[in-house]
Amino acid sequence: MSYEGPENEAPRPRSRRALTLTFAALVPVALLGWLAYSALGDEPAHPSEAAAPPSAAPGGTSSPSPSAGSLAGKVVVIDPGHNTGNFRHTAEINRQVDIGTGKKECDTTGTATNAGYPEAKFTLDLAHRLRALLEKQGATVKLTHDGDRAWGPCVDERARIGNTAHADAAISLHADGSAEGNRGFHVIMPGVVHAGAADTRPIVAPAKKLGARVAGGYRDATGEPFSNYLGDGTGMVTRTDLGGLNLSTVPKVFIECGNMRDKSDVALLTSGPWRQKAAQGISAGIVSFLRES
Ligand code: ZN
Repeated sequence: MSYEGPENEAPRPRSRRALTLTFAALVPVALLGWLAYSALGDEPAHPSEAAAPPSAAPGGTSSPSPSAGSLAGKVVVIDPGHNTGNFRHTAEINRQVDIGTGKKECDTTGTATNAGYPEAKFTLDLAHRLRALLEKQGATVKLTHDGDRAWGPCVDERARIGNTAHADAAISLHADGSAEGNRGFHVIMPGVVHAGAADTRPIVAPAKKLGARVAGGYRDATGEPFSNYLGDGTGMVTRTDLGGLNLSTVPKVFIECGNMRDKSDVALLTSGPWRQKAAQGISAGIVSFLRES
């Protein structure tokens, strides 16, 4: 799928007079908007851990962010879940790989909306948007794949790519395929695993922090609620059965951005402008984590 760029484009040149008039007309509107916002400012407080500051000033200008470059030297690995080619390579992706606690399929096809929009297409598009935002902040970003291979990579290789890159943070992007009515997002963090090639003990604590920041940033940016079917309303789930987490030696989390089988979530997941918000929220969480690590 072609990449739809961010909505934030450079403002069109206008005459000073037109700008002044526009500004004068906007002031009362903005004031009213602010008053309305203040009156309604009763959003439930987030857990302090989950509160992530915005990554960039709002306003949509094309001028460089004042914090640009602040992530120089930091490495982020983005793992777009699945691969649109996996459907045509069932033998390859069904091959068992070692995830420390046992064996698991190399990869899976992922889910899709009822109308046929595949999860793998969603994750790659979101990865491109996220990469652009993080690079703008000065981070070095690596994708585990970029639509440039016929299938996979396998989950063990996805983990290895983050490890080899010595990523300061790694994130695997997904969307869920649960029942209609199940909606919302959740972040998956590694639980303690010490078996075979897997030893998550050093990454459990930093990954938990990363997960909380990503969850906070994502909710703030998208308005998407925490999952109503997993995580007891916290939006946070810990798992020990995912090869991509078990085999990671760097702080890594998964995000299930929404449910591709729920009408409300599908309306969001299939919207380019909404995916841009999702990328902004994830970026804000990662940036907040990296600035402290
Ligand atoms: Zn997935």
